[in-house]
This record gives sequence, C-alpha cells and structure tokens, in this order.
Amino acid sequence: MNHYDLLLLGAGHAHLGVLRRWALNERPPGRIALLSPTPEAWYSGMLPGLLAGRFAAADCQVELQPLCRAAKVELIVEQAVGLTAAQRRVKLGDGRTLEASWLSLNVGAEVARPPQQGEAMHLLAVKPFAEFLAGWHSWQAEPQPLAILGGGAAGVELALALAERVPALALFCAEALLAGHAAGLRLRALGHLRQRRVQVREHCPISGIAGDCLLSGDKPVWRGTRLLLASGAQALPWPAQSGLDCDEGGFVRIAASLQSLSHPQIFAVGDCASLPGARKSGVYSVRQAPVLAANLNAVLRGLPLRAYRPQRQSLALLATGDGGALLGWREWSAGGQFCGRWKDYLDCGFIRRHRLSG
Ligand SMILES: Cc1cc2nc3c(=O)[nH]c(=O)nc-3n(C[C@H](O)[C@H](O)[C@H](O)COP(=O)(O)OP(=O)(O)OC[C@H]3O[C@@H](n4cnc5c(N)ncnc54)[C@H](O)[C@@H]3O)c2cc1C
Repeated sequence: MNHYDLLLLGAGHAHLGVLRRWALNERPPGRIALLSPTPEAWYSGMLPGLLAGRFAAADCQVELQPLCRAAKVELIVEQAVGLTAAQRRVKLGDGRTLEASWLSLNVGAEVARPPQQGEAMHLLAVKPFAEFLAGWHSWQAEPQPLAILGGGAAGVELALALAERVPALALFCAEALLAGHAAGLRLRALGHLRQRRVQVREHCPISGIAGDCLLSGDKPVWRGTRLLLASGAQALPWPAQSGLDCDEGGFVRIAASLQSLSHPQIFAVGDCASLPGARKSGVYSVRQAPVLAANLNAVLRGLPLRAYRPQRQSLALLATGDGGALLGWREWSAGGQFCGRWKDYLDCGFIRRHRLSG
C-alpha cells in the first residue's frame, strides 16, 4: 500500500509544530506519514552554540520517532528525490514511489555555491547539518585558515563561533554585513568580529573559485583551501521540476492558506515556499505551524481554511560564541550575556516543546 491521505515531506520547523499540535490535540483522520532523510531534526538556532562547544549534538536535535508516535503519524526515514505535482506522486531515494491525496512540503533549502574551477579549494556547506558537522570535525583535526561566505545572521554567528578555532578567518558579504538589520546590531556585530580578528569583507560578492583563489568579479580576493558556505537559500531542484508553480528562484508559490497557487492539494511552508512578506528564516516557519496544522485538519475534514499573515518584523538574536548574544528589534539593538541567556531559554524551549513521547 503506497497511498496516504496526507504525506508530510521534511521535518522542518513548521512540520514539527504540526506534529506537536496533533500529539497534544486530536489529529485529523486518515493515513498520515512524515518523510525525513534522518530520524532526527536539527534546530539551526543552536548550531552556533554547538560549534562553540556550549551544547552537545543531542541538545540541538528533536528525535522524530517519539514525536510521530505521539501524533499517530508513520515515520518514513528516506528523502524525496522527485515529485509529480498533478498526481501528488513522490519518488523516494530508495526507488519507492508514494502517492497521497494531500501533500505538505517543509523541506527547507540548500546553500548557494559559487562556480568552481579546480579542486584545490575544499567547500563545506552549512546544510545539511549532519554532513556539515562531520566535515567540520575532520577539518578540525588540522585547523587551517578559513573563509566564510555569507554576511547574514548565519555567517556572523558561525564566524563568531569558529574564530578562535582556526588560525585566520575571513567573512565575505555580498552587501553590507547584516544588510536589512538595525544599524546598531550591525555595529555591535562588527565590534565582536574585530575583537576576534575576523577579517570582514563587505560589498565583496564572490563570483567564483579558481584553484585556491576566491574571485570577486575577475579579482582574486582571498587565497586558501577551506571555504564554508553560509550564503543565501537556494531552492532544492525537484519542486521546480514537479509542475508546481514556482518563483524565479525555484521556491513554491503559495497563497495565504499555505496552499500551492497551481496545485491546492499541495501545501508548502518555510524556506521552500514563496509568499510575499514571508522571509526565509526559522521564525517564519515556526509561525506558519498553527495555521498549517489547522488547514491540514480542515482539508481532511472538509472545513474552511485559515489565512496566514507574515509578521512585519522579527526579533534577531545572534549568538556571539561566548554565551552572549546580540539582539535586534526594528531600529533598536542590545547585546551581552543576558541576551545570550534569553536566546538559550528560547532555543532550549523549542527543543523541549517538541520532545514528546507517544
Ligand atoms: C547556522 C544557522 C543559524 C541559523 N539561526 C537561525 C535563528 O537563530 N533563527 C532563525 O529564525 N533562523 C535561523 N537560521 C535559518 C533557518 O535555519 C532556516 O531559515 C530554517 O531552518 C528554515 O526552516 P524550514 O522549516 O523551512 O526547514 P528546515 O528547518 O531547513 O528543515 C527542512 C527539513 O527538510 C528535510 N529535507 C530536506 N530535503 C528533503 C527531501 N528531499 N526529502 C525529505 N526531507 C527533506 C531536512 O532534513 C530538514 O529536516 C539559521 C541558519 C543557519 C545555517
């Protein structure tokens, strides 16, 4: 039997929230499964703390089997490698095919990679986290100078977590550091990065890699052999090839009900979806969870759907690698150990909330 009433693809933040709600309240009727490449889901907000040695790997993960058991949802540990939207047919990595009356996609995104000539430069993408951590541990056996690509929140947090673990670190930003965040937050982050002797290269988009050189335009801007990729989100290839209406970046266009614009029997949330006003960040995915849980319940019971409205602002809390954090809200910013304790409280609370047993 390979037919499901509902298939949840990916254990992203929103699907974790859906499962938690169904574990605590009544779940919708029918045969439901969650598809995940791994039996645990990583929580990205705690990754910088893990790298800085403040958390163990187990602290930053949600075990999916107990959560699924509590929500009476079948867990399939495999990844999707293809989708035919019209039939809602999902091809799995092991060759199996599953079909569903309703689908929900919360599969996140990949990290963009610059074009590379030669193999002198070793690249490590920050996602998927399990592969990143394995690669990082092998690099740490012999620390060498490192460049990080990505001047957003993830790049800054990683630079601060890793600066003291490598002999030299350069951070490349296509625009200004933390573009789009409060000016005060940016200045505070620059101060911390300078203190840790991180070389910050703003307005320096990396266009390619030639041998052991990073190029900006045609100009060599850094020479070395290790590059960590924390640059913008890039869509997984298969949703755009599935027949789903996608934006120019390959992200699934959705309506306020979180349904695909072209295939309403398919929902999409989090980084893999495209909705005006919703940013690619865990915070937005988490806030989509209650509406997604309600709407999946509604379609399986024939009830009316709710609308999701993205919040206009979100709180930025960036770990500084020493137990502290920087906080940004609109034009306001703060920093220090108390912000770090608050961030830990929120992050550990997320993990705790999703550790349910059936
Ligand atoms: C270092 C770092 C720190 C960050 N810190 C924060 C932060 O503090 N706050 C914040 O808001 N954002 C943060 N982000 C951004 C955040 O990680 C993403 O925006 C967020 O995880 C997106 O959530 P999501 O629900 O879309 O999916 P994700 O959390 O990315 O989860 C996607 C899931 O889908 C699964 N999956 C992938 N491909 C497939 C497939 N083919 N088949 C089945 N399953 C699949 C994955 O295994 C994963 O479990 C950080 C990012 C990084 C890199």
